[in-house]
Amino acid sequence: MMPGFPPLPGRPPACELCGEDAVFLDRVRGCHLCGDHFLQDVEGRVRHTLRGYRLIRPGERIAVALSGGKDSTVLLHLLRKILPPSGGITLAAITVDEGISGYRDATLAVARDMAARLGVEHRIVSFGDLAGSTLDAMVAAGGEHPCSLCGVHRRKALRETATGMGVTAVATGHNLNDEAQTVVMNCLRGDLSGFTRSPVGEPGEGGLRRIKPLFRIPEKEVALYGMIAGIFRELPECPYAGTALRSEVRRMVDRLEYLRPGTLGRIVRGQEEVGALCEAAREQGGLLSRGREKSRLP
Ligand code: SF4
Repeated sequence: MMPGFPPLPGRPPACELCGEDAVFLDRVRGCHLCGDHFLQDVEGRVRHTLRGYRLIRPGERIAVALSGGKDSTVLLHLLRKILPPSGGITLAAITVDEGISGYRDATLAVARDMAARLGVEHRIVSFGDLAGSTLDAMVAAGGEHPCSLCGVHRRKALRETATGMGVTAVATGHNLNDEAQTVVMNCLRGDLSGFTRSPVGEPGEGGLRRIKPLFRIPEKEVALYGMIAGIFRELPECPYAGTALRSEVRRMVDRLEYLRPGTLGRIVRGQEEVGALCEAAREQGGLLSRGREKSRLP
């Protein structure tokens, strides 16, 4: 029985591939899978994303942005497992300590443990070291929304640390739910430049790429993968999480996905298609440059 799930009466449905007891029902594809076949299925889809979008190139040094939460922990485990040892690719991990009391200590411990277990070089960098102040102190001083402050300083910390480590791409644990939420938030804000950005990752500043190998895997499947692989831990939620627009959008798209399975995937695929059309038009000179698109909105 999976942790956190009550036992169901009677025998569970059988895995469509081997007949063993199923632990997962894919409501979009309409199939049941046992634990082993579920793990293989997720790994196959992540491999497909890596190859299809050429996210990782031979000889690269990749750093996982390892918060210690379920998404980044599963991402590090998955990349360690599926990247070919012959490709000359090296993995590292970077954890940013924002300075959020009651939250970050637990996830830092998980991040340290995970990197040590997988034998991956691990750096921890704090807002205190880089900005001279914790996020808690910045929030107490007033001003911007906690998540806006956090995002700006975290991206800077990752960029500077990754560059110092000779990393060529930073892999983040964004999953399908995160990406669908971002698409809807960009629509709500009227942010056309955000709406036309690739969900899979883009070249960042200084040639450092940001990639999202889990962007096609729903959040529940990332969590289930972590449970079956034995790396899932219950962790506290960031105390600032409930204050963001994202949490309202999350509730809305989760409900739509529940009522109409496949909604998350359709939102992200639709955004990819619009992004590709905008890119083609931009190349033909039909759109303003990327940085000015926002200003075209009324
Ligand atoms: Fe930072 Fe907001 Fe995430 Fe908390 S919820 S870690 S403040 S971005």
